[in-house]
Amino acid sequence: MSIERTLSILKPNAVAKNAIGAIYARFESAGFTLVAAKMLHLTREQAEGFYAEHQGKPFFDGLVGFMISGPVMVQVLESENAVHRHRDIMGATNPANALAGTLRADYADSFTENAVHGSDSTESAAREIAYFFSDNEICPRTR
Ligand code: UDP
Repeated sequence: MSIERTLSILKPNAVAKNAIGAIYARFESAGFTLVAAKMLHLTREQAEGFYAEHQGKPFFDGLVGFMISGPVMVQVLESENAVHRHRDIMGATNPANALAGTLRADYADSFTENAVHGSDSTESAAREIAYFFSDNEICPRTR
């Protein structure tokens, strides 16, 4: 299994709950290495671009409005099989279906306000990481 990277976002409700540290602790104790991180208050254009694949769906406007309602934390997590391992600890998209102990079970407020984002494939991870970070903002561990 090779080392992968995935793009993670702590959505505005997770940041508003002062849960950044608690969620980062979960990432680290699950074996992820944080190799990049930044706090951003997304513009409407940034949020619409990030979720472009969902444009036209009934939840799109509500999702964009939520994503620009407050600051988010955006980070790159590295581990073996990072994309799938991160999706596992996030839990199901609809928090009503999220297993106990997952981030969405613990921090989501609704289907839209489901606390966290994670890339769903290595291809989307590459695109989403490049959406938020330039190469020189990623800091791999060298020792
Ligand atoms: N979403 C929503 N209603 C839906 C489906 C999705 O509000 O019926 C929101 C939810 O915040 C979700 C995001 O849109 O996280 C992106 O949806 P996607 O299917 O890509 O889920 P994810 O990859 O975030 O689990």
